[in-house]
Amino acid sequence: MNFTHMKSNQTAASSSAKFKRVGVVGGGQLASMMGDAASALGIELVVQTPHATDPAVSVAAGAVLAAVDDVLATAQLADGCDVITFENEFVDLDGLRSLEQQGVLFQPSLSSLSPLLDKYVQRCYLKGLGLPTPRFWTWDCSADLPIDFPFVVKVRRHGYDGQGTFIVKDRESFESISAKLAGQSLLVEELVPFDRELAVIAARSPTGEIAIYPIVETQQLHQVCRLVIAPADISLDVKTAACAIAHTLLNSLEAVGIFGIELFLTADNKLLVNEIAPRTHNSGHFTIDACETSQFEQHLRAVCQLPLGNCELKCAGAVMVNLLGYESAESDYLEKRQQLAQIEGAFVHWYGKKVSRPGRKLGHVTVLLGEEAVAQGRIARAQAIAQTVESIWYAS
Ligand code: ADP
Repeated sequence: MNFTHMKSNQTAASSSAKFKRVGVVGGGQLASMMGDAASALGIELVVQTPHATDPAVSVAAGAVLAAVDDVLATAQLADGCDVITFENEFVDLDGLRSLEQQGVLFQPSLSSLSPLLDKYVQRCYLKGLGLPTPRFWTWDCSADLPIDFPFVVKVRRHGYDGQGTFIVKDRESFESISAKLAGQSLLVEELVPFDRELAVIAARSPTGEIAIYPIVETQQLHQVCRLVIAPADISLDVKTAACAIAHTLLNSLEAVGIFGIELFLTADNKLLVNEIAPRTHNSGHFTIDACETSQFEQHLRAVCQLPLGNCELKCAGAVMVNLLGYESAESDYLEKRQQLAQIEGAFVHWYGKKVSRPGRKLGHVTVLLGEEAVAQGRIARAQAIAQTVESIWYAS
C-alpha cells in the first residue's frame, strides 16, 4: 500500500460543498471522469486503486495504491476524506462495516449497497419490492436445471461488461459453460426476448430529492454495451413506468448518489429490471457533453450534500459509442482518435489505458444531435453516426 499526494493545491473555483475531500474506492475511468467534475466544484478526489497507471490517478489529488477490497487501505483513504464513495462494487462489504461503525461516512451507505452486490440477492430484493424482473433461480451446476433451453447463466458476484453472463442456447453450450463454472453458485434466469434495452440514470440526495436523466436506449453485442442513444424513442407510459421503478428503488434503498438501472422493454411495452449498478454508469456517459449537469457532477453533488443539478439535455439528442479494445497491444490509437474528432458534434474521451485487450473499454465518443437529426429520424441518424464511429475505430 502506498499513499501519494500528487497535487496538494488543486486550483478550483470555491464551492459551497459541505465536503471538500472525497475518497473514491476505485480508480478506473469512472473515477477519472469524476475527477474532472470534482475540480469544477472545488472538491478534491483521492482514489483507492491498485496501480499508479490507473486512469484516475493522474487527475486525483492523491491515491492509496491498493486493491479496492483492501479494507485497511480504505481506512487510510478515509483518514483524510470527508466522505467515501464507490467507483465499482467489488468491495469487501463486511470488512467496510467496521469502518462505518468507527464513524466513516460512506455514500451510498453500506446498507444501500448490501442488497445489490450479489446478482441473486439483488433479484430477490427487486422481487420483494414488487418490481418486475426476469424469472430467476439460484443454481449450483450439479442440481437439475430449473428451466429449459434457452436460458441465461450469471456468476453472482464480480461480473461486469458481460464477463460472467452466458446465454445458454442448447445442451452443447451448456456442457462447456457448466464445466467452466463448476463449483460456483450461480444465477439462472429466463432468456428475455426483449424488443430493446433501456437504462435509467437517476440520482438521489440525502434529503430524498430524486433527479432522473432522459431515459436512454442501450445496444449490446455479445453482452457488452456498444452504443447508447439519448433519449430513447419510447411512449410516455413506458417513460412514466421507468421513472416509477427508479423512484421505488432509490427510495427503498435510501440511495445517495447516481444509480444506473438497466431495463428490458418487451414487444408488448412491458419493462423488466435487468440490473442495478450503485454508481455512475456507462450508459450515462452522454451526460458529460449533452446534459446541463454530468452524471459525475451529479454524483458528487449528492454525496457532498449539494442541491442536485439539472438533468436536461442541452441538444436534441446524443449518441455515445464505446471504443472497445479489439486486439492485445500497447497503442494510444492517436490517429484514429484524431479521425473520430473530425465527426461533426463529436467529443472523444480517451481513458489513457496503457494496454489494449479485446473488449476492454479504452474510451468513448459522444456525438451531439441537432434539430435536423430529429427531422431525419433521430434513432436512424444516431445509428448511422454510430456506424461511422465504429467503421473508423474497428478499421484494420
Ligand atoms: P453485466 O453485469 O456483466 O453487464 P448483465 O446482466 O447486465 O451483465 O448482462 C449483460 C447483457 O446480457 C445485457 O445487457 C443483455 O443484453 C444480456 N442479458 C442479460 N440477461 C439477460 C436475460 N435474462 N435475457 C436476455 N438477455 C440478457
